[in-house]
Amino acid sequence: MYNVMSPKAEEFISHEEILASLEYAREHKNDRELIDKILAKARERKGLPHREAAVLLDCELEDKNQEIYALAEQIKKDFYGNRIVMFAPLYLSNYCINGCEYCPYHLKNKHIARKKLTQEEIIREVTALQDMGHKRLALEAGEDPVNNPIEYILECIKTIYGIKHKNGAIRRVNVNIAATTVENYRKLKEAGIGTYILFQETYNKESYEKLHPTGPKHDYAYHTEAMDRAMDGGIDDVGLGVLFGLNNYQYDFTGILMHAEHLETYKGVGPHTISVPRLRRADDIDPDVFDNGISDETFAKIVACIRIAVPYTGMIVSTRESQSCREKVLHLGISQISGASRTSVGGYAQPEPEEENSAQFDVSDNRTLDEVVRWLMEMDYVPSFCTACYREGRTGDRFMTLLKSGQIVNCCHPNALMTLKEYLEDYASEETRAVGDKLIEKELDVITNPKVKEKVVDYLANIHNGQRDFRF
Ligand code: SAM
Repeated sequence: MYNVMSPKAEEFISHEEILASLEYAREHKNDRELIDKILAKARERKGLPHREAAVLLDCELEDKNQEIYALAEQIKKDFYGNRIVMFAPLYLSNYCINGCEYCPYHLKNKHIARKKLTQEEIIREVTALQDMGHKRLALEAGEDPVNNPIEYILECIKTIYGIKHKNGAIRRVNVNIAATTVENYRKLKEAGIGTYILFQETYNKESYEKLHPTGPKHDYAYHTEAMDRAMDGGIDDVGLGVLFGLNNYQYDFTGILMHAEHLETYKGVGPHTISVPRLRRADDIDPDVFDNGISDETFAKIVACIRIAVPYTGMIVSTRESQSCREKVLHLGISQISGASRTSVGGYAQPEPEEENSAQFDVSDNRTLDEVVRWLMEMDYVPSFCTACYREGRTGDRFMTLLKSGQIVNCCHPNALMTLKEYLEDYASEETRAVGDKLIEKELDVITNPKVKEKVVDYLANIHNGQRDFRF
């Protein structure tokens, strides 16, 4: 029985409710009158329930689809402006006892190089990431209580926050590790993590169990209820995601929205972010079985419909996607992207030798951070290295309140410009700096409060003169 307020995975992600929603969407996908009603509701910018969002996702009417894209773009502009937050993943260890069929870290893969970073190696990797200009990391690790116990993850976080190198520092560490206990989530919170990220992979219990035949990850309920436990442990920024390409995309789209509704209704705070990874080619994975089944067009439609359905939730796209695909979805709702990523354990300080490949999957976007930053600015986006909300304690519903207050232009926008200025001064090539300084000049006009604007102009001058870390 579907119950958004239930603590049980199979009740807040009800298989029957998803099937009924998909049926409803199929029946009404070209129902102009209903689609107009749904779009009118979506224009209020309060989001949409999963069933109505599923109708938009299935809609085949060309003119209505254009309206869907235009609305997604407008909501993105209203809530996030033209800022794009930058981050990089850091793989700590690929030891893993799970049997995920699509992931080369699965236990049965005997030929992948198994690696785990020592604290000294972490210092080298993070220094290399700081030298590129990164301020925000997503830590990644396989599940292995012997090789990667929670104590190891906590030690890594402590090491990373402790590294001060030239003008750089990692100011926000997000963590993507396997589902764990409330007690461990509490420890992660105490270690000062930003967002706890966990991808559901698929919400379809039957497919989930087949795709995860062995290891602790096999337990669908334990995995699906992880965000509730994370919140019970005090983490109020959580990041959802499904791995598109594993299962029917309409099913997982509906499932992820139901998960967001559950967190918002039952825990009082919706997800901080939603990631939209697509399956990639990887070592020891049969490309005939896992062929990244959804087209770029469907992918763009998913991004647009998520943007409309959960306007307050950030959306992340990684370097799994190519430059051209990223270009297509940025304006439809993406608010965070990774740049210059390595999916191997190590590889930032020094490229991995060919015979020691520990990579999780092939990336499609291989550009340097400088190239990604310049590319964004040339399209009039403001790459942001801001971590202010987290550092000022504006997490969970306090962050949502800021987002809803309309004061983003006098808070996030100035912070984005100042962190971009730091990036330009410390790490950018001459060409990128020239593009960026021009953009900052222009973007100052977006700040509506004259006092804030005056302060920002002062702070920017101070940054140019060598001072760092101003924020609102
Ligand atoms: N071990 C943790 C877990 O089980 O959640 C951490 C996650 S893993 C390092 C990060 C994510 O990479 C997974 O959740 C999965 O969605 C994704 N992934 C695994 N294999 C992939 C592939 N072949 N292509 C793209 N993404 C993949």
